[in-house]
Amino acid sequence: MLPLVALVGRPNVGKSTLFNALTRSRDALVHDQPGVTRDRHYGVCRPEGQRPFAVVDTGGIAGEDEGLAGATARQARAAAEEADLVLFVVDGREGASALDDEILAWLRKAARPTLLVVNKTDGLDVQAAVNEFARYGIADRVAVSSAHRQGIDTLIDEVLERV
Ligand code: GDP
Ligand code: MG
Repeated sequence: MLPLVALVGRPNVGKSTLFNALTRSRDALVHDQPGVTRDRHYGVCRPEGQRPFAVVDTGGIAGEDEGLAGATARQARAAAEEADLVLFVVDGREGASALDDEILAWLRKAARPTLLVVNKTDGLDVQAAVNEFARYGIADRVAVSSAHRQGIDTLIDEVLERV
């Protein structure tokens, strides 16, 4: 079985864009698993000359406990709990939000190895964008622009050092 990497973060930070950037290879398996895992998408990252790993894109985590948002949040938590590595995706343009703080709190409880991925850093002062999240206390941080495929190869290297 391939190691499993879960993309976790609040809606709109660019998880799905990152998922597509990681799994873009010709035979990337992007599909729903009906009846088993609603709102989760699995794919495989096959970096050239490196080990492949599985990626799960979670539906995002809204701050509510009830209804669809609650179900989606539970899916995301379940995905994180079964993952070998969590990529906690945040938005470098917007900086840290209350919802990011909440996600961080439950990620700490889940106690999975976590890499902070600061996305949307295209056109930004990358170091400043990353420093915005220093108080999260996650030592391992990578800046990317999923939309422009910047930093993706570095991210893959960082993932493969951990899975
Ligand atoms: P998700 O809800 O976390 O899955 O986020 P999406 O992948 O759907 O992206 C949300 C929005 O952010 C979309 O409009 C994307 O085009 C945009 N986006 C994603 N990645 C980047 C990026 O690296 N840079 C910029 N500027 N926009 C991005
Ligand atoms: Mg998405």
